Amino acid sequence: MISIKQKTLSLEHKFQGKGLHTGQVANMVVKPAPEGAGIVFHRVDLGPGAYVHAIATNVSSTARSTTISEGKASVSTIEHLMSALSGMGVDNALIEIDNVEVPILDGSARPYVEAFLKGGFVEQDAAKRYITLPREVEVRDEKTGAYIKAVPSDSPSIDLTVDFGSRILGVQHAVWNESVDYATQLAPCRTFVFFHEIEYLFQNNLVKGGDVDNAIVIVEHPVSDEQVARLASLFNVPKLAINDNGYLNNLQLRFPDECGRHKLLDLVGDLTLAGGRVNARIEAFKPGHSINTKMAQTICEAISE
Ligand SMILES: [Zn+2]
Repeated sequence: MISIKQKTLSLEHKFQGKGLHTGQVANMVVKPAPEGAGIVFHRVDLGPGAYVHAIATNVSSTARSTTISEGKASVSTIEHLMSALSGMGVDNALIEIDNVEVPILDGSARPYVEAFLKGGFVEQDAAKRYITLPREVEVRDEKTGAYIKAVPSDSPSIDLTVDFGSRILGVQHAVWNESVDYATQLAPCRTFVFFHEIEYLFQNNLVKGGDVDNAIVIVEHPVSDEQVARLASLFNVPKLAINDNGYLNNLQLRFPDECGRHKLLDLVGDLTLAGGRVNARIEAFKPGHSINTKMAQTICEAISE
């Protein structure tokens, strides 16, 4: 499955939808790109030169999603699309987008992966870029206890643990290695949010595009019927209820540990900003976009030493 040649898409793929945080609708076309191009966004609404390269040094914000910027152009919430491209082994793609935020679609990477698989891939002549670390690297967040460690290895893997101190989620482990099928095991896993965070996020101008079709809502603390009714009206749906298992009844979990798997999907996307497949055994504890992208940057620094 892992090819040693670079790969791009056979066809263009169109997506349209609102961004999770801004609520703004974007039209996006994911196109094939020549070998060596990497993953590049083009803010077509800003004119012909508004390119943003998906590389770690362009990360400009990691507040609940990953944003990259170059000059005056920014693109936010790139992580699920980046993960889908990386998960399917796509090295080169040009993404034209006419707004600031990548559509959230169903909150997972599945719509991308399904489209890419259907359209197929093209093997290119140049060799795929593998990143070989000169030594072990590690990033830590002393405040949260989160860390990511990468040990050089010929068989790349990611071992991830999430612990939100949540009675609903518990501690979840997720693993990726070359024997794990990204398309079926990780791509379908959706983003999630805690019920008690939603009002705060709305007040802070985040999750404006959130609705019951694109995020798993976890109800950690007891909530009143009024709070549930208010959320239903925020989300513009007639009725919501809470399941016995602590999830909002709007959807069925695709995996019991869907949230942990989604964190892995995010990490795969963020690490792609290092510029290639990292030949390392990666261990991540409580990862998030901030520490993920810091790791991508640290990897870039380590290989340029
Ligand atoms: Zn995510």
